[in-house]
Amino acid sequence: MALHAPGAAAEDTVPAFADRLGRLAEQAGVSGADVILITPGPDLEYFIGHSVGSHERLTCLVVPAGGEPSLLVPTLERPGWAGTPAEDLGIVISTWTDGQDPYRALAELLPAGCRVLAVDYHMPAVHALNAQAIVPGSELTLAGEAIAELRMRKAPDEVEQLAAAGAAIDRVQRRIREWLTAGRTENEVAADIAKAIVDEGHVRPDFVIVGSGPNGASPHHEASDRVIEPGDVVVIDIGGPMPSGYFSDCTRTYVVAPDGGRTIAPKIEEVYGVVRRAQEAGVAAVRPGVTAESIDQAARSVIEQAGYGEYFITRTGHGIGLEVHEHPYMVAGNTTPLEPGMAFSVEPGIYLPGEFGVRIEDIVVVGESGAVLMNTAPTTLTIVGVHG
Ligand code: ZN
Ligand code: ZN
Repeated sequence: MALHAPGAAAEDTVPAFADRLGRLAEQAGVSGADVILITPGPDLEYFIGHSVGSHERLTCLVVPAGGEPSLLVPTLERPGWAGTPAEDLGIVISTWTDGQDPYRALAELLPAGCRVLAVDYHMPAVHALNAQAIVPGSELTLAGEAIAELRMRKAPDEVEQLAAAGAAIDRVQRRIREWLTAGRTENEVAADIAKAIVDEGHVRPDFVIVGSGPNGASPHHEASDRVIEPGDVVVIDIGGPMPSGYFSDCTRTYVVAPDGGRTIAPKIEEVYGVVRRAQEAGVAAVRPGVTAESIDQAARSVIEQAGYGEYFITRTGHGIGLEVHEHPYMVAGNTTPLEPGMAFSVEPGIYLPGEFGVRIEDIVVVGESGAVLMNTAPTTLTIVGVHG
């Protein structure tokens, strides 16, 4: 779960964490919180370069508005924090021991007169409510937006990690024809892909969607015992975390050769062409200053004009980083202006119930003059399983 690659020089990473923590303390003030509380998860990784499995025992980073952060951990887990960036940053690490009240220990770390407690999205409700209860008259709010303000804009080293993740998942997409053939089940194909995701550099697969034929019309269908047939359209949406903690996410849609030939149904070709044009329009619309919802509109209008609007049943994209879904979301109503460094997917699709689905997904980063693609696997219609 360490954010920094094993062996990465501490002097490279600590200033970044120090800067992030400083800006979070500022954001706390801007958002009206007296303190931001962060429990294990991607936010903790982002700010102090280390996280642990979140169990019932309280581990909590305490960031007072404009003040110095501190960390509370269970005594039995204290050894695991040795040598992490949290220590290198000089953060005071306090402990509480089984039998003690962890929330009393937390209260001692809160700034004097603290009234508004902002908690991260991932904090278990038991910790959030008990933290509030220990401060009489306090108010509980979400720190998610203040945190997203920082996490949305990727620094150059984060963009490098996203590019490495994109290249790794692209290598898997380029090998799909090794596994995707008629007569195999979706589960068999998914198992081979899952292994390749690890072989190509990921820590683990996070999701392996193999949606063949009618199953492809359900955007988050994973994989089943359905036997893939000649002529099937197959949506393959795959990704996972790299050792850096940053995620990949890439969708390509394939056609299994009908009877070993290359001639496919005209409707498949038409729908695929519409999705491809929509995806390209979404990517082409990306530049600093335009709104997140305008990317959705750019992709959606192509699909609507082709008469398939009612079959594009998802938003166009989601941010990505230390989580596979994070801010900003490319969705109607999100007027957040895009800024350089923001990273997100552009993944329009057409989902025809009972027939098939088509989705094409790339991760992009907002550059000074437009989108920088993190995925480069071809988006042309690929027919697999052609004989000879
Ligand atoms: Zn996605
Ligand atoms: Zn995806």
